[in-house]
Amino acid sequence: MHWSKTLIPTLRDIPQEAEIPSHQLMLRAGLIRKLSGGLYTFLPLGLRALRRVERIVREEMDRAGAIEVLMPALHPREIWDQSGRYEVLRDVMFRMRDRQDREMVLGPTHEEIVTDLVAHQINSYRQLPKTIYQIQTKFRDEIRPRFGLMRAKEFIMKDAYSFDADWEGVEQSYQAMYNAYTRIFERCGLRVKVVEADTGAMGGSSSHEFMVLADSGEDGLVECTGCAYAANLERAERMPPANESKGDPAPLCEVKTPHRRTVEEVAAFLHVRPEEMIKTLIYLCEEQPVAVLVPGNRELNEHKLARALEGRPIRMADEETVVKTTGAPLGFAGPAGLRIPVYADQELKTLRQHVAGANRADAHVIHLNLARDASVTAFFDLATAREGDMCPRCGASMREKRGIEVGHVFKLGTKYSERFQAQYLDAEGRRQTMIMGCYGIGVTRTLQAIIEQSHDEQGIVWPATVAPYAASLLVLNTEHAESLIVAEQLASALSACGLETLLDDRDERPGVKFKDADLIGLPLRIVVSERSLAEKKVEIKRRQEQAKTLIPVAEAVDYVRRMLS
Ligand code: ATP
Ligand code: MG
Repeated sequence: MHWSKTLIPTLRDIPQEAEIPSHQLMLRAGLIRKLSGGLYTFLPLGLRALRRVERIVREEMDRAGAIEVLMPALHPREIWDQSGRYEVLRDVMFRMRDRQDREMVLGPTHEEIVTDLVAHQINSYRQLPKTIYQIQTKFRDEIRPRFGLMRAKEFIMKDAYSFDADWEGVEQSYQAMYNAYTRIFERCGLRVKVVEADTGAMGGSSSHEFMVLADSGEDGLVECTGCAYAANLERAERMPPANESKGDPAPLCEVKTPHRRTVEEVAAFLHVRPEEMIKTLIYLCEEQPVAVLVPGNRELNEHKLARALEGRPIRMADEETVVKTTGAPLGFAGPAGLRIPVYADQELKTLRQHVAGANRADAHVIHLNLARDASVTAFFDLATAREGDMCPRCGASMREKRGIEVGHVFKLGTKYSERFQAQYLDAEGRRQTMIMGCYGIGVTRTLQAIIEQSHDEQGIVWPATVAPYAASLLVLNTEHAESLIVAEQLASALSACGLETLLDDRDERPGVKFKDADLIGLPLRIVVSERSLAEKKVEIKRRQEQAKTLIPVAEAVDYVRRMLS
């Protein structure tokens, strides 16, 4: 391709709107342009890289035995009512009406559509197992679209769904997808960390996320320094510390703490450590108030709370409920004397006495012993894990990292197959419900994550497997006829070997061409200049290395092929 004939609008300056390197580089290297928040046009260079990622995804899905379909992006509302997810996802879905005034939605995901399809098309154990996938545009009205393609309103996802006759089957289908994902990200040149994930609103029993480690990642995770345990912070467990305190606690005692509401304020006022305090949070579980206790220096993890309460709907209580339940204004709640269910973080067993709210304005209690002075309904792991916590498997210390979720695999079970009656007849002619898994890769997010992980001060450093072209071919002086001829000949010879190049034939200064070549980051840079041609040579350099080599023109094609293989 000739630079002068395509559309690569590179930018010198960092666009104001872009906060993270990959987003800045996608704009600066002319890969994408923004239409409006979370909506982007792919320009030729971006589209070529996207197609290469898609191709890797497709090849690995096919290799794993998955079959490709293409489902509609536009769905009638009823199918979402049938699963009960219309209410759960209504704020995320773009909704509209057709001319018959029928409500339609743009699909944020496709469990409903595919399960309905399979329920009608598959009915015998002989047709199972099946894994069905598509590469398709998804729509989500994200609360905060940002970071370019990372969190968009419209994005491309590869979504796959497996249907099995039994649980051993789903185990295998899951493993096949897990392995395919590992290969896909490896082929994309990405280093990923696989973490245990929360199953949340999807339902289902087990789930892993594929994370690209990056400071700009929106997900927090912990990894053990001693064993293979790693988990999303939404899910990460921790081993409680050993019991510290000895001896009997002193009697419960109320103290005045005027206007001191927060853990920090009370701890400073009473000269205790934050971890000696109890944070008491009032929640509504199925609209009934419950108290949730975590150590003063910890954050409650709502995902863990939801799991502990077996998925019953929870939400933080409003101020009025808190006042009515505790008899005190906000900031003075405590477990002593509460007559509602009390769920406490397991770490609170470590200390035998704590400071907590007194359920009275401007007062706290000290020497609170949970076993003696409160009635705890149950202890669970409820606080969010963090750096330095002990691994739940081996007890070694854990590290906290940030990651970009590029892929997600779920064992779903029968949640959707029951609702849509996806059943089959087994060998004995009995009707059975299929068992499902679902598997997503954010294709456009993956593309940007590659750049987030592979760039330097000058620009993108494409892994050869996904680079939009194999090499930049720079003609330094386009007035020099021989340079142009040699460059054209090299381009067609390389193209004949399947290596497409980008021939920079613009009437620009060499400095501009060098800068742009670094910015768009193709794996190799081939420079054709009057000076090198005087020796019948061209100069070749890898994007990520400084060393340049002068190679005879006649050997250039072989040399490039060797460098890229
Ligand atoms: P997130 O937690 O980041 O919102 P999710 O868990 O809701 O993502 P899934 O439903 O698991 O996403 O979707 C599968 C994959 O699609 C994700 O792993 C991610 O790579 C990608 N993805 C999800 N939402 C977006 C988005 N708004 N923009 C781009 N890619 C997305
Ligand atoms: Mg996910």
